[in-house]
Amino acid sequence: MTAPRLDIDLGAIAGNTRILVDRLAPVGIRVTGVSKALRGLPDVAEAMLRGGATGLGDSRVENLQRLRAGGVAAPLTLIRSPMLSQVEQAIRMSDTSLNTEPAVLAALSAAALNHGTTHGVVLMVELGDLREGIAADDVVSAALSVERLPGLTLAGLGTNLACQSGVVPDQRNMDDLSRLVEAVEAARGRTLSVVSGGNSANLAWALSSDDIGRIDELRLGESILLGTEPLHRNPIAGLRTDAFTLVGEVIEAKTKPARPWGEIAQASFGHQAPRRGGGTIRQAIVALGRQDADPDGLTPPEGITVLGMSSDHLVVDVGDHDVAVGDELAFGLDYSALVRAATSPFVTVSPHTAGQTRASRTGARAENGNSKEIPHH
Ligand SMILES: *Cc1c(COP(=O)(O)O)cnc(C)c1O
Repeated sequence: MTAPRLDIDLGAIAGNTRILVDRLAPVGIRVTGVSKALRGLPDVAEAMLRGGATGLGDSRVENLQRLRAGGVAAPLTLIRSPMLSQVEQAIRMSDTSLNTEPAVLAALSAAALNHGTTHGVVLMVELGDLREGIAADDVVSAALSVERLPGLTLAGLGTNLACQSGVVPDQRNMDDLSRLVEAVEAARGRTLSVVSGGNSANLAWALSSDDIGRIDELRLGESILLGTEPLHRNPIAGLRTDAFTLVGEVIEAKTKPARPWGEIAQASFGHQAPRRGGGTIRQAIVALGRQDADPDGLTPPEGITVLGMSSDHLVVDVGDHDVAVGDELAFGLDYSALVRAATSPFVTVSPHTAGQTRASRTGARAENGNSKEIPHH
């Protein structure tokens, strides 16, 4: 089979979505599945929808286009403020977008009129993380000015925490959002249909708070895909953390001295941690590089240690494993490694349902004779 490849277990993604949807439904929160880490791969989006997500969000119009072209029919939200230079695409590819800038809203209005559609606007509120957002004091007037723009409807308010500064979603900042919702509703005389409280970092708050206030939607990516929460990167109870596997092929396997020799300066990506121990090790090179993954975010198979990674070579100590040239090694990924792998043009993305995996892997083994895969867990 092709290597490197990113194996995706779609059943795990649908299952994770279902569990989160079912946990959030009792408190009145629906889930928008965020597809940006996979560049809007339609199979992953469909798995999220099978799991009960009510819509999809992506930060790039190109990814939304890929979803639409792949036949995804669910409501699509552009979750990054549209570039002024892309408002036409934003109108065509999304039903709703997250916004903060009057100039962009004016351009969206003109593009919506031009296109003969109505575009939904969620105004993003700054609540302390210092990424996107309108200051709380300016939200009501911004909301009223959206109402005056033809071609646009004010869908609601949203916020995003824990991304730029790691600010934790809590009762205080979520109450601030709810209060702003009420202020906007009082000013316009109508209720808002979307109150988008945040991302996967909001789950701990949403599932423990006894007052959700007006929050009725979360935009979830990492928790669905990796089964982890972004505040401490802990696994979320009950979720699968193994939906993704990055498989690389071994291109050299030799017994080598444990330590380098000669004068030591920087390696290709800065200083390399000094190697310890003496004697020899069984070392392998996997045809994977920093262009394809973040070495700090890879989990190697049990008993195998990552020694270093340059642009195109991943060097591992294979310990007691019997690893030969042509073998495949399978690595788990964190969010950073996942994004890198899914956007590398060198990595083949391979979505499958659990049943298909076994069949195709057996097939690969038969073709390659000596090929065996050492899984990450
Ligand atoms: C990426 C992103 C999300 C999803 O975040 P996760 O931590 O992956 O759940 C939600 N909202 C916005 C605005 C984003 O950029």
